[in-house]
Amino acid sequence: MPTPLYATDTDILAMLRDGYSNQRISRELRVDKVRVARLRRAHDIPNVVLQPLTLEQKWATRTRPVDGGHLEWIGERAKATNTPVMRYKEAGYSAAAIAFEIKHGRRPQGYVRADCDFKQCVAPDHVNDEAGRQEARRRLRAELGLDDLPEKCVRGHDQAEHGRLEPDGRAYCQQCKVLDKRAQRAGTAARRRKPQAASVEDVFRRNAEPIEDGHVRWTGSFAHNTPNLRFQHANYSPYRIAFRLHYGREPEGRTQPACGMPHCVAGAHLEDRPMRQRTNSLYDAIFGA
Ligand SMILES: [Zn+2]
Ligand SMILES: [Zn+2]
Ligand SMILES: [Zn+2]
Repeated sequence: MPTPLYATDTDILAMLRDGYSNQRISRELRVDKVRVARLRRAHDIPNVVLQPLTLEQKWATRTRPVDGGHLEWIGERAKATNTPVMRYKEAGYSAAAIAFEIKHGRRPQGYVRADCDFKQCVAPDHVNDEAGRQEARRRLRAELGLDDLPEKCVRGHDQAEHGRLEPDGRAYCQQCKVLDKRAQRAGTAARRRKPQAASVEDVFRRNAEPIEDGHVRWTGSFAHNTPNLRFQHANYSPYRIAFRLHYGREPEGRTQPACGMPHCVAGAHLEDRPMRQRTNSLYDAIFGA
């Protein structure tokens, strides 16, 4: 309604007779509240006592019937979950929980939601709390003539405590579901975390396979037909690492197996330059230069 520039008594009286409060009329017509009150008294129009909507009435104004007896929520929704919610007198409510209380006249136990096929339906006949949902599913299970519920699940969890039913009446173990989810999450995390070798020696040990006669086969990668070890973006010689692990000192010069087995990385089978020279001089001493 356009606001008249200068509200006349007639304008005010029209609103008074329509049942508006003095405050509302004064605000809408931008007139003094005292003037509205005086006109109300002069024309003997009773004061309207505005009945604030009850929680259920406010809830009802935010619903819209949908084919199939469902009720669509046209009010506010929680941002993250899109769950129908409603504020009432500074407090927040779940629209489905209000629907439950309308139907059952009591507080729900556990999470309330509809079991029907209309997403986030708030029809009081369609919503249920956890206990009611399980009860309805038990009835369905009985109607379908399914077996008695097991006492224990395959992992031995007590089904009196952990047993639940799917919407179609099939039984499942809530505890197993929780554990499976946890294991799945842990598995995903482990897969994401590439197993990290702590040191170059770690990598060496992972790729060194002891075989017969004290030889050790290199199962890691090769570069130019020579065992090669890659650790944190650098290349290492497995021969030199094996040597150091065995003799407790850094090898000098070219280091390679002297045992006759190609690519052997047994520490005791490796020789560095000083050792080779010693072997050679011994050889010379025995067999002559
Ligand atoms: Zn529904
Ligand atoms: Zn279980
Ligand atoms: Zn060897």
